[in-house]
Amino acid sequence: MEKTIFQKIIDREIPATIVYEDDNFIAILDINPVNIGHTLVIPKNPWANMYEMPAEDFGHMMQVAHMLGVKIKDTLEADGINIIMNNDPAAGQVVFHAHVHIIPRYTGDGHEHWHGARGYNEGEAEMIADKIMENY
Ligand code: 5GP
Repeated sequence: MEKTIFQKIIDREIPATIVYEDDNFIAILDINPVNIGHTLVIPKNPWANMYEMPAEDFGHMMQVAHMLGVKIKDTLEADGINIIMNNDPAAGQVVFHAHVHIIPRYTGDGHEHWHGARGYNEGEAEMIADKIMENY
């Protein structure tokens, strides 16, 4: 199978600006940042998305994202931080090697958030919650 761009970065076949690395994760600056300091936390194991990741590894990835997110906010004097993971094209995933975005945010930076486009009909929220809980 063709290596993903992130696998090539992990294997040092193409360059990236590394901000953190340990045995299991690498964190690099996104080549096309929403804001300066936009960072990607990438597991070295090439899971395609979070569904493939064992929960424990997902937890470790979030611990790295937490550590870096706090440092990035402090270092870059950001007003806020978004932690985002896109899973599947429908959710905006472009590189099919799991990764979490850490995005420094500034008041009025113009990056558009999604806005809820609808509410719930009568009884619909309870029905959906029951459906999710039945699937545990
Ligand atoms: P996704 O939409 O899959 O969550 O995001 C993939 C991200 O990877 C994008 O934000 C994109 O800018 C970043 N990206 C794609 N190719 C490269 C690359 O070669 N180097 C780096 N540093 N980032 C990349």
